[in-house]
Formats: sequence, structure tokens, C-alpha cells
Amino acid sequence: MNRSTLTIDYTETTKDQLGSEDIELLEKAVKAAGSAYAPYSQFRVGAAVRLDNGQVLCGNNQENASFPAGICAERSVVFYAHANFPANRILAIAITASPCGICRQVLLDSEKRGGIPIRVLLGAGDQVRIFNSIKDLLPFGFDSI
Ligand SMILES: [Zn+2]
Repeated sequence: MNRSTLTIDYTETTKDQLGSEDIELLEKAVKAAGSAYAPYSQFRVGAAVRLDNGQVLCGNNQENASFPAGICAERSVVFYAHANFPANRILAIAITASPCGICRQVLLDSEKRGGIPIRVLLGAGDQVRIFNSIKDLLPFGFDSI
């Protein structure tokens, strides 16, 4: 039997300490949250991804009366990115809330698909948490061991 300790690598900072690309991504995620469709939870979330071609895409949560039919902000934009830009990789994502477990797995698969870590920025106000890979948010994802 081996006992192990897991270390999660992330940075906590303030928005004014970030570079212009990170600030842009966070601001676009916040703006996207404003047009989320969340009549049931009233919990509006926005997400924005930066592709390796420099393009920024946005998404937000879309709820439905049949709850499982709704989708989170980060999944809406990641699936849109892969559907419309299949040759491009996602370099970074900004999300205005901490992602749920399903979205963490989707981001992990997207990271594997692109072959490079996806930088994850979480925050809606001045405080920002930065993870250099989704693996820091889902260290034991659904996968073969
Ligand atoms: Zn989610």
C-alpha cells in the first residue's frame, strides 16, 4: 500500500496583474454571462476560449425546462470551437465560475485532443485563479489508468 499526496498548482492573483490577452478573455467571459439563458437557476455563467489562430469565442449556460438538456457555458463554447474550428487547438479558457465535473472532463478531453495544456482562468471580478492545465482541476479524469 502506498499513500500519496496530491499537489494542485495554481496562481491566485488580481486582474490588474494579468496580461492584456488574459484580461480580454476574462472580460469576454463576463460579457457572455450577461446573455446566458438561466431562468431556472438565475446563475449566469460565461466562458471564452482563445484558439491557436488568435480567435476568441464565447459561450454561456443555456438552461432548459428538461434540466439535463441544458448546457454549461464552458461546454457550449468548447463544443462550438471544436465543431467550427476542428483544426485549431484551444490555448486558454476563461470561465466566470468554477467548472462542474462534467465540464472538467470535457476540458480534459479537449486538452488531450489538442495535445497541449489548456490555460484555465477562473474569475468574474478582480480575483482570478489561474491553472496551467485542466489536469490541476481534474487530476484523475475518466480515462484508462
Ligand atoms: Zn459544467
